[in-house]
Amino acid sequence: MIRVRFAPSPTGHLHIGGARTALFNFLFARRNRGTFILRIEDTDEVRSTPESVGGILEGLRWLELDWDEGPEIEADGSGVKLTGRENGDFGPYFQMERQDLYRKIATQLLSEGKIYRCYCTAEDLESMRRHAQLSRIPFKYDGRCRELSEDAMRGKAASGEPHVLRFRMPQEGATQFKDLIHGDLSFENNLLDDFIIVKSSGIPTYNFACVVDDHFMKISHIIRGDDHLSNTPRQVRLFLSLGWEVPIFAHLSMILGPDGSRLSKRHGATSVEEYKSLGYLPEAMRNYLALLGWSTSDSQQIFAPGELAQKFDLEHCQKNPAAFDAQKLLWMNVTYIRGLADPELLERSLPWLEGAGFWNSKTAPPKERLRAIMRLEKEKYRLLSDIPKLLDFFFQEPKFDPQAVEKVLNAENASQVLTDMLAELGKLDPFTAKSIEENARRYAADKKIKNGAVFHPLRVAVSGRTQGPSLFEMIEMLGQTVVLGRIRSALQLPR
Ligand code: GLU
Repeated sequence: MIRVRFAPSPTGHLHIGGARTALFNFLFARRNRGTFILRIEDTDEVRSTPESVGGILEGLRWLELDWDEGPEIEADGSGVKLTGRENGDFGPYFQMERQDLYRKIATQLLSEGKIYRCYCTAEDLESMRRHAQLSRIPFKYDGRCRELSEDAMRGKAASGEPHVLRFRMPQEGATQFKDLIHGDLSFENNLLDDFIIVKSSGIPTYNFACVVDDHFMKISHIIRGDDHLSNTPRQVRLFLSLGWEVPIFAHLSMILGPDGSRLSKRHGATSVEEYKSLGYLPEAMRNYLALLGWSTSDSQQIFAPGELAQKFDLEHCQKNPAAFDAQKLLWMNVTYIRGLADPELLERSLPWLEGAGFWNSKTAPPKERLRAIMRLEKEKYRLLSDIPKLLDFFFQEPKFDPQAVEKVLNAENASQVLTDMLAELGKLDPFTAKSIEENARRYAADKKIKNGAVFHPLRVAVSGRTQGPSLFEMIEMLGQTVVLGRIRSALQLPR
């Protein structure tokens, strides 16, 4: 049985790296008819927040990375909400609700002598750190509480001195594990420290809670970022000391920004939420994320719905870092937008158009008209947020671009052209792209002026700008009354 998990710590946004880890786990589960589990690792009492949980769930849902087991959510227009219920037989799926289990395992390990109480204070540790620094050796807890006598231990316990629980790391030998991306790995035990498994607050550390949960949730494969590679030998030692089967690992390559350093805020948007609000489509984002560290043998770039889940495998995940390429992501978004059928594109754009405040529920244009307007500029949309910007003049009075006014409307003859076209277009029946175009061309020919000398002022007069959709279709779409009104207003602009 394949069981994999995405185990975010709710201390911030869902980042590109986290979303990629979630996606790879999801795809691996789907491809192998396995189970995809969402576990919230909220044992960092200081940094974990419910807002972060909400944001992460929202991001996963937006990317349609639906989990089979984990917190159950409800979605409405304002976002996702936890219902307080969970799906799956291996819960709770919030670590802070699993503390009894961690306590039980810690007690067992303590009675077996596999972990020990450490009473070292922050000052003790600081002096060990300074000592290591002076001797130019890597800092490692020196194990001074390993062999505290029973008496000393009892004394400290009786006086209520705070303590942590540390793992008794073997001093010799090595720890090996299997990694489907990096191959077989081995770490010298004497380089590993007696790491803390329970903090003085009684709350387990990540390394401990993670191992207990991966065991009890029957996780078969641990797929996560390679920033966790240094934790893995410690976790493997814990599995072994508990006599538990060690899962198979797959550590995903890190993601670098354009300057070759690890992708971070400095490189621009790094959270899924930001990409959503910039106007990316979730399917473009998924497709892009899938190729961050994975590829097919023939380097396929665009995947039809469901195709990633059929093709994804860990064998084709690369060990070398993946470079985040914002241009490629944008290209993918354009490709996906162009691939959307008109009704679907409209559905996706509606929140953006509504958000722009062009209309209210009573004045909303019919969908048929919106679809027709949207079609006019379909080739130009890179982001969903471009749509209201490119189409605003269909829904509100044009905002005149001062340069266009200066260059086009104030040009010689422009006022005359517009005055004449006002009369021409006023008489035109039917008012269609074809009839408007014939009329404008005939007028230019009669007056022996260039077509542009008619077309350009018309465009600026009705849209406020020099660039836009095909002129005559745009004029037809605006409609005769609006067009005549706009030409009149343009003629009255201060010169
Ligand atoms: N909570 C850890 C993180 O967010 C999960 C690491 C793991 O997958 O084991 O980095």
